[in-house]
Amino acid sequence: MTIETAELGLKKYFGYDRFRPLQQRAIQAVLDGKDALVLMPTGGGKSMCFQIPAIISEGVGIVVSPLISLMRDQVKGLRQNNIKAAFLNSSLSMAEAGLVESAVLKGNVDLLYISPEKLLSERFYNVLRSIKINLFAIDEAHCISSWGHDFRPEYTKMASLKQQFPNVPIIALTATADKLTRKDILKQLSIPNAEVFIDSFDRPNLYLEVRPGQKRIEQIVQFINERPRKAGIIYCLSRKNTEDLAGKLQAKGLKAMSYHAGMPSDIRSQVQDAFINDNIQVVCATVAFGMGIDKSNVRWVIHYSLPKNLEGYYQEIGRAGRDGLPADTLLFYSYRDIMILRNILEGDDDRLTRLKLEKLERMRQYTDNYECRRKVLLNYFSETLSTNCNNCDVCNNPPDFFNGTVITQKALSAVYRTKENIGTELLINILRGAHRKEVLEQGYDKIKTYGAGREYSHFQWKYFVEQIINKGILEIGYDDRNKLKLTKQSFAILFGDEVVKLVKYVDPKETKLANQFKFKAKSKKQILEEELLIELTNTRKVLGQANGIPPYLIFDDKTLKELSIKKPILKSQFSEISGISEKKMELYADNFINAIREFITFKLSSGEKISGMTYWVSFFMYEDGLTIKQISTKRQVQEKTIIAHLGKVYELGDDFPIHEFVSEAEIIAIGEKLYNFDDEIKLKPIFDSFEGKISYPKIQFALAHLRKIGEI
Ligand code: ADP
Ligand code: ZN
Repeated sequence: MTIETAELGLKKYFGYDRFRPLQQRAIQAVLDGKDALVLMPTGGGKSMCFQIPAIISEGVGIVVSPLISLMRDQVKGLRQNNIKAAFLNSSLSMAEAGLVESAVLKGNVDLLYISPEKLLSERFYNVLRSIKINLFAIDEAHCISSWGHDFRPEYTKMASLKQQFPNVPIIALTATADKLTRKDILKQLSIPNAEVFIDSFDRPNLYLEVRPGQKRIEQIVQFINERPRKAGIIYCLSRKNTEDLAGKLQAKGLKAMSYHAGMPSDIRSQVQDAFINDNIQVVCATVAFGMGIDKSNVRWVIHYSLPKNLEGYYQEIGRAGRDGLPADTLLFYSYRDIMILRNILEGDDDRLTRLKLEKLERMRQYTDNYECRRKVLLNYFSETLSTNCNNCDVCNNPPDFFNGTVITQKALSAVYRTKENIGTELLINILRGAHRKEVLEQGYDKIKTYGAGREYSHFQWKYFVEQIINKGILEIGYDDRNKLKLTKQSFAILFGDEVVKLVKYVDPKETKLANQFKFKAKSKKQILEEELLIELTNTRKVLGQANGIPPYLIFDDKTLKELSIKKPILKSQFSEISGISEKKMELYADNFINAIREFITFKLSSGEKISGMTYWVSFFMYEDGLTIKQISTKRQVQEKTIIAHLGKVYELGDDFPIHEFVSEAEIIAIGEKLYNFDDEIKLKPIFDSFEGKISYPKIQFALAHLRKIGEI
């Protein structure tokens, strides 16, 4: 089996033209019978690495996955592409499982998804013994390692697979990068000589943004309103938080629901289904949400509060934009979040607590940094990015530094004069000269710095104080009710020996990106594409409902977008679009082509211009039974132009029957005449050379045919 055969399979079953470089190498290894370990980020295209070899090789490919809840949809998706896929796990009844087993035994299954428990059951072992297996794919392979963050004891039993089936290649796949886990996977699966394929973990399509967590609700509502109909997830720290937030968003008229592990399981699956089927736009969830969903068109992810560590953060934002199209991520942070998290993370085991707190500290540092976020993030995962990414908030709005020494001195002085007995809020109230009870009671209105910072808003002060803390100039006394404490650095600054650079506060609404959103006028072409995209999204939803599958399994957003740009009218054009397999062509081409035709006809009939589309309108009218003359009258253009339109449609496909207008013999005669003329073909000399016996329309259609077959 060669990689060329594999590529034909890719086009036939998935509608893609080429493998990604690492996919190609991994597939080659498996086809050569070697074991492989594939590390790719979410959306990197891991599944193709085992699906294609399994489908094109003789026998069954066995796919082990711990994500039971995903299997049903995964298999539905594959069947949409005419792939003989099935699954076996505890969610099937005995009878259903029996049917699948007998299909496997009869050779009617090419790709079998199975849970580790089922795979290792004695009953299924006998099935395995009596069939030809072309590969074992171990998905989410990090679950085998107790070093990983998602250890599953049942995975460890798979060590025996290699012994029992020494000639069947094993391909292990994961999106978890760290080296220890990697080594452990090879060891646990007894595949020490596996070829290892490591892709970059960068997800360049994800926009990375961090904002201070003030007025979060207001910011979130604005964010969602700027993205109408685009689905997204908001991760919250607590169950209560998810419910409160969903309620508030609903009150603003948004289609939002909450999701957390404390909800009854039927409600949870209802929320999940509503989200997957595009019936709700927003899910406010704890981190429990996400593992069980495969939706490729999540267009944004917000973190309402700081995640516990960068691993979790990266995994959660990774649920956006799996289709490779741009997706936005937004992280809110505040000191309160850190304090709450510190409390949550404190445990009995000192060593573990320390590790967790260190990870939290790295998370905090990520929010507080003025370098390209992607650089910092990839750096944490031991990768280096050589240039700035131009797709994060820091790259988009480079920080505006100013000399903040005096501001810092004012804050330090207030902390000093209150004997390190105040927290951030009180500090700001003192600096702003607030007439608050807690200020007056302690006599803090008498100190020298009272009201010394009136010129800055509460917001701005908060922003400055956070920077001062981040620089280590002030410390939070976690063991003293989070009161602010002076450090060695504080004194150097108070005595005027050091300059402090701070970053100016920029209201997120005023940033370049926000402005782009608001003010950049869209071209007519873009507006038209967006309108068509909405129509196609509706078509997809209706088809999803009719077929009982999530819309994203019909076509992903990337395919819809390409359709909205290229607007294929003919089947031959439609099949050129990326992501359209043979089977889906058969199932859905007519529906989508009709939607595109209707859209174009409607637009053109209401006087809009769509470049490159005018000849289709003539063709649609012809299809509706109008004669060339009638079309010409109706469209108020010359008949010869209409004929040129129809000739063009004929050149593109087989839809227009030119032979009703010109015979084969006439075409040949006209073709022969062309030898008498120079390069440039003009109608009149041809017409004259036949002494008027062959009409202009015939000549035009004959030329269209000759162009189509490449004669001219
Ligand atoms: P992963 O399992 O690594 O998260 P998937 O296998 O779900 O990634 O693939 C992510 C997306 O990329 C899917 O929409 C898939 O159809 C698409 N894809 C995979 N391989 C290719 C390819 N060779 N060309 C174009 N698109 C691809
Ligand atoms: Zn950047």
